[in-house]
Amino acid sequence: MATTYDAIIIGTGQAGPSLAVQLASTGMKVAIIERKRFGGTCVNTGCIPTKTLVASARAAHVARHAAEYGLVISGSIAVDMKIVKERKDAVVRLSNEGLEKWLKNTENLTVYEGHARFEDVHRVRVGDELLEADKIFINVGGRASTPPLRGLDQGSYLNNSTMMDVNFLPEHLIVIGGSYVGLEFAQMYRRFGSEVTIVEMGPRLIRREDEDISEAIKQILENEGINIRLGAECIALEKRGDKVAVNVDCVSGDKTVIGSHALLAVGRVPNTADLNLEKAGIELDERGYIRVDDQLRTNVPSIYALGDCNGRGAFTHTSYNDYEILAANLLDGDQRRVSDRITAYALYIDPPLGRAGMTETEVRKSGRKALIAKRPMARVGRAVEKGETQGFMKILVDAGTKEILGAALLGIECDEVIHSILDVMYAKAPYAVIQRAMHIHPTVTELIPTMLGELKPLE
Ligand SMILES: Cc1cc2nc3c(=O)[nH]c(=O)nc-3n(C[C@H](O)[C@H](O)[C@H](O)COP(=O)(O)OP(=O)(O)OC[C@H]3O[C@@H](n4cnc5c(N)ncnc54)[C@H](O)[C@@H]3O)c2cc1C
Repeated sequence: MATTYDAIIIGTGQAGPSLAVQLASTGMKVAIIERKRFGGTCVNTGCIPTKTLVASARAAHVARHAAEYGLVISGSIAVDMKIVKERKDAVVRLSNEGLEKWLKNTENLTVYEGHARFEDVHRVRVGDELLEADKIFINVGGRASTPPLRGLDQGSYLNNSTMMDVNFLPEHLIVIGGSYVGLEFAQMYRRFGSEVTIVEMGPRLIRREDEDISEAIKQILENEGINIRLGAECIALEKRGDKVAVNVDCVSGDKTVIGSHALLAVGRVPNTADLNLEKAGIELDERGYIRVDDQLRTNVPSIYALGDCNGRGAFTHTSYNDYEILAANLLDGDQRRVSDRITAYALYIDPPLGRAGMTETEVRKSGRKALIAKRPMARVGRAVEKGETQGFMKILVDAGTKEILGAALLGIECDEVIHSILDVMYAKAPYAVIQRAMHIHPTVTELIPTMLGELKPLE
């Protein structure tokens, strides 16, 4: 006999819990299922722990540079990785346990702990329990991808989840993958005191960004003593005693990097292969993501997919936005859509990269007439005052509509500054709105109006 609910939610990532609580608050009888840790990737192995570690790493970095600011610290700066991890665990626990309590104490909401699998369109099994509902919401997220690299079967590598258990300082961390996740770990471990080598298959770091951004980021990381090996087309791992050897170049011979630990950070895959989706007839795309329409409906009318598993976003804010879109559609009759949102994210190296809208490469490819403004952080007063002038900011504007097309801001505080641009983009207002705004001095954001006064045609 199945237990009947109005709605079943699979996964407690960044969309499921808020949706569950909101549906339950309307009097619906709701079940939510989690197989591992409440809060999913962001809370346990993604955003929250990494940004907590980034904060520890920054503190170490600032302490090492204290003399430049006139501070005298006698003795060298050492990092106690056990305390770093304990601090990270405490911050994670706050969210993870808070979420668990919230869900378990919500009226009309039942929490199941176990692995959910479909039995058919309306029924889901969790262990011995069979649940059934009119509507089912899938929020199962993703995990680190493990491509078929030679030597991976020797088990001598870490990923973003196993990195969370590290409470020691790797002597030499080899980070395989020079993109968002890999770069954050690379810089933080360098700052903790490890030797770090980034091994990237492509010709440059973080290939989705413009070339000038990739180059500036490479410079920032190299300035801190990180080794960067690009164009490593044939990566292979080999365990050598207590070391790990990473082959970085198969084309021109026997080039290996030998480290104490290897971190594999080469992308993510959705958790969709072990849900028995075929029993409900739910379609996947060629990469294993659940196909959804602009309002997050799968091909089965009563089943929806939210968050990373639908391939329409790969961030906490995109997953949470999926929840908002669905709740608006289902409960408020407000026809919100995924395509209403503007690409926005940050890369949390230090200084961070804040991104919104199109890249310069995308603008050029679109063939439209555009304007561009660029300013090095060395010409931003606040950055000079703080002694942190690495990076640059650039903004692109449509020459016809005068609307902002995109921005890439690489510099101190730029993960926050980007929002002043993003909000004007959402308002679909011409750039003059922000150009004429009076901003507070001294801030990084005060230079955005100035930059917009310096726009030039994009050649
Ligand atoms: C190292 C790292 C750093 C990151 N940093 C950032 C950042 O700074 N900012 C940002 O916006 N994003 C960041 N992300 C991405 C962000 O973590 C994800 O985009 C976000 O967590 C997606 O959430 P989700 O809702 O799709 O699902 P997830 O958070 O992945 O949660 C899915 C949940 O579903 C559960 N589940 C899966 N299958 C089943 C099943 N069959 N039955 C029951 N339960 C199941 C899982 O156990 C998990 O708890 C980072 C990711 C990583 C890996």
